[in-house]
Amino acid sequence: MEIETAHVPHDHESGAGLIAVEDARERVLSAVGKLAPLQLPLQEAYGCVSAQDVVADKDLPEFASSAMDGFAVRSSDVAPADPADPVTLRVTGRALIGRRPEATVGGGEAVRIATGAPIPAGADTIVPIEDCEPVGEEAVKVYAPSPEHKHIRPGGEDVKAGQVLVQAGRRLGPPELGLLATAGVPHPFVHPRPRVVIVSTGDELIPPTAEPEYGQIRDSNAYTLFGALREVGAQPMMAGIVADDVDRLKDVVLAHAVQADAFVSTGGVSVGERDVVKAAFFKRGDIDFFKVAMQPGMPQAFGHIEGRPYWGLPGNPVSVFVSFEMFIRPALLKMMGRSEIGRPEISATLTADVTGPAGKTQFARVRVSRTQGGWVAAPTGGRGSNLISTVSRANGLAVIPQGRASASAGEAVRVLLFRSAED
Ligand code: AMP
Ligand code: MG
Repeated sequence: MEIETAHVPHDHESGAGLIAVEDARERVLSAVGKLAPLQLPLQEAYGCVSAQDVVADKDLPEFASSAMDGFAVRSSDVAPADPADPVTLRVTGRALIGRRPEATVGGGEAVRIATGAPIPAGADTIVPIEDCEPVGEEAVKVYAPSPEHKHIRPGGEDVKAGQVLVQAGRRLGPPELGLLATAGVPHPFVHPRPRVVIVSTGDELIPPTAEPEYGQIRDSNAYTLFGALREVGAQPMMAGIVADDVDRLKDVVLAHAVQADAFVSTGGVSVGERDVVKAAFFKRGDIDFFKVAMQPGMPQAFGHIEGRPYWGLPGNPVSVFVSFEMFIRPALLKMMGRSEIGRPEISATLTADVTGPAGKTQFARVRVSRTQGGWVAAPTGGRGSNLISTVSRANGLAVIPQGRASASAGEAVRVLLFRSAED
């Protein structure tokens, strides 16, 4: 990726010298690809995308079975049966579930059968037990006729050998897992869930279990990202807090490289002298640092470390959330082989004015709800990118496009829903 904005002067409101959100997103998306398929056990494959057409190698079900408890007989034998004039047949044995039937059904014969048991050779219909009266173990009186095939579940009724069970690109949901299990495909080829290393950079950070000294703050970004990664279906790997120390950051990142499919760090991507991500990876030439015309989330880093995508997000908690939504989430979905990579969008009427920098796309946190007049979007608080509670109260991001400094109450805006309107 060649993004060089360092020499272009810009001021924070105008957006001059910044790259547009859509362009930044395109660059990220074009630089990631589907993860190589793996054979995973069904429980782990759940929610993943099939990497190939899975073809049935046998008919399903594999054998014809009874749909009723009763007697397996020949339909021609019981055709004349009547409540007033039953047909008496000789019972030659039992057909049990889970066993190949030993008894066969000849003319004038019947085999006692349980629901789900394979149909014995020679029988072409089942008489339900309600229409029968056993005479000891040896004989049965049949009081009603039963036409050919009645109460028999034929082999191959569900799936024929050679049929595609699950198409490549299909996500494995509950019925697909069941179908693959029954077809004897316990380890399907799927695009796996990316394992994503989370690193929080900053001398000021402490874990949420600790009590801050004056000036310290608890690391919230790692937890926001943990949740965001789980929600999208990736596997978060918490690498912890790294102080603003270039060598330490390199060590931590490289130490995780073998088990990781991607990295996300927060903090340290601006121009300050303590900006550790920049200092660690700028010189390597693997990571680009650029400014995106968005608020929040302007400074961003993206590239590859050891062939794995690396996102360096700004440290502010709202920037982290919005950057994840705009750049990382769609990229991870692409890595997982998903074709739908965007959030649902609605048009909603603002309940209050939203102002921002005209030169940037602004993502205002809003709570949308449905009213008789359609969707409305209520801003959840100030625009400061440190105000994480504004995200917590929201369910959507209202998009105020580049070139507009504000949107007024009563105006319709585009809203990306990052969770359901009820959540
Ligand atoms: P930076 O991008 O490193 O300059 O950080 C920008 C702001 O985000 C600073 O106020 C940091 O203290 C804050 N910040 C950085 N990392 C985190 C984190 N992991 N959790 C909460 N706030 C953070
Ligand atoms: Mg920092």
